[in-house]
Formats: sequence, C-alpha cells, structure tokens
Amino acid sequence: MTIVHTAPKKGRFAPSPSGRMHLGNLFTALMSWLSIRSQGGKWVLRIEDLDPQRSKYEYARQIEDDLQWLGLTWDEGGLDDKGPHGPYSQSRRTGIYSHALRRLQDAGLTYPCFCTRADILATQAPHISDGRIIYPGTCRPAHEPPFDTTPETPHRHATRLFVPDMDISFTDTLCGAQRVNLATHCGDFVLQRADGAWAYQLAVVVDDALMGITEVVRGNDLLTSTAQQLYLYRLLGYPAPTFTHLPLLCNAQGMRLSKRDRSLNLAELRSRHTPEEIIGSLAAIARLTPDNAPCRPADLIPLFSWSKITPAPTIRI
Ligand code: GLU
Repeated sequence: MTIVHTAPKKGRFAPSPSGRMHLGNLFTALMSWLSIRSQGGKWVLRIEDLDPQRSKYEYARQIEDDLQWLGLTWDEGGLDDKGPHGPYSQSRRTGIYSHALRRLQDAGLTYPCFCTRADILATQAPHISDGRIIYPGTCRPAHEPPFDTTPETPHRHATRLFVPDMDISFTDTLCGAQRVNLATHCGDFVLQRADGAWAYQLAVVVDDALMGITEVVRGNDLLTSTAQQLYLYRLLGYPAPTFTHLPLLCNAQGMRLSKRDRSLNLAELRSRHTPEEIIGSLAAIARLTPDNAPCRPADLIPLFSWSKITPAPTIRI
C-alpha cells in the first residue's frame, strides 16, 4: 500500500497596513477564509509592511481588531507571530529575503541596475498606458546569463532578475487559462530596490512558499503579477500554490474602492452596522445567499463554492 501525503491546505490573507480596511479588502479576506475553512484547512494572517513610508503598526492592529470583530479567525501569524513560520510581518523577514536573493545571485540570474524611474519611463512606448513598466534592459549585461555574481559597486543600485523571452501559463480558479510572456509583460524585474526595500514579488513568493501556503486568493489587480511570481517559484524550486483572483468591488461610479474612500471603510461600517450585517452583505455580493440576511462567517461555510462567484474583473456594489 502506498501512503500518499498531501500537503495540508493553507490559505492566507496578506494585507498591507497602509490604512483602514474597506469592504473590498474584507471581501478578499472572507472569500479566502471561506475557501480554506470549507476544506478544513488553516488560515494565515501575514502583515505586508514592506513599505516603511506607508505602513503603520496602528493600521495592522486595527486590521486584526476588525477581522476578530467580524469572526474571521486565523490559525497562524498576526502581530504576535503565532505559529512556526514567523516572523509574520514582512518588515522583520529581511534575512529570509536576503537568503533567497543570494540564491538567485549565485545562479548568475541577477544584475545591478542604476536606472531611475524617469530613465525607464523615457524609453516606454507611448501605448503602454496601464501603469505597467517594461524594463528596456538598459543595465542588463550584453551576454546571456549566468552573469557575474552581482559586482561590488559603491553606487546605489537596484537588483534585477533576468527574465527570458518565455511564456508562463497557469489556470486561475475564476479567471481561467492565462498565458503571459514575461519579456513583453514586464521585462527584467526588480527584486531589491536601490533604497534596500524588498520588492513585493520576491517577498510574497518566499513567504507563501516558506509558510506552506497552498492557495492564494486575492484581488484581480494582482492577476498580472502571478506570472512573475510563478517564474520565481520555478527558479527557487518551490511548489506553486493555486491562484484565485477575485473581482474588485467598485462604487456606484464604477471606481474601485480604495482605502481613501471613507464611506465603505471599516471605521464607518462598524459605526453603522453589526458584524452579521456586513458579512450578510458580502455573502450576497458573492452570490452565496439570495439576499443580504445577517449571518456569521461560519454560517457560510456549507454554502461556499467558487462556482457561485462571478469571474468578472469587477463588481459594482
Ligand atoms: N499586500 C497586498 C495587498 O494588500 C496583497 C498581496 C497578495 O495577496 O499577494 O494588496
């Protein structure tokens, strides 16, 4: 008899503590929580405070308080680093990211980049208007990798990862089959910025892999980052999780909710509604229930199915 060990199911919520959560953040949290709870798995709370200018401890504390108030309990992570894979705040995981970067440097896949954002923007084709920056390869060595292990230089520089002209294919639970060419989508991308800050792409892959995350559920705005992340999974030899990108909630004017939108942030919502009312509204938005009758997250576990959730990129509420 062969005993097959399958990895325990693990999901995560990875908020950036740069403001009070809004209904859209909560929609992501609830869907991720329901998906993992309906499979009997564990849920991790990771604080993505890589950006020292925008992240505040107080916002992280508020996120925890809001999740607890709503009944979205986590098994691992949080500010008190519950569990074996801590620390669970990215600002305290620098040594872990350095180690991963070192592996990519030792493989000869990185090089120092001295370009400023303005230099890169100056080379962009005029039709690229969605905010994406495609690195034109200005600092890339002329020969194919392996490159010299990043040379010592007294000048401040970012570290970029070489990407080949290669398609990455994956299937998103909601959005279906995806195929992205890394060279035309982003080009060589940054792993560590010139000011020493770690790039989201590197940190998120290293953290999800080392924390044993088996499913990533997040907003549709990150669908296009997934190919870069899958490339890193491959280079670092980590098994990749599944990916589900949720529709973004938009206001009546069709604008995506943001942390600056006061009306639907948790401070406002908590002053006007019970947790059950808020969860009931989100359940109706997700089409898990026919009306927005108040309920608790746990009541929705038996009703949860990805097939009920629209694959549209946005939902107007
Ligand atoms: N920290 C990101 C955010 O708050 C989420 C990253 C992810 O889920 O991969 O938007």
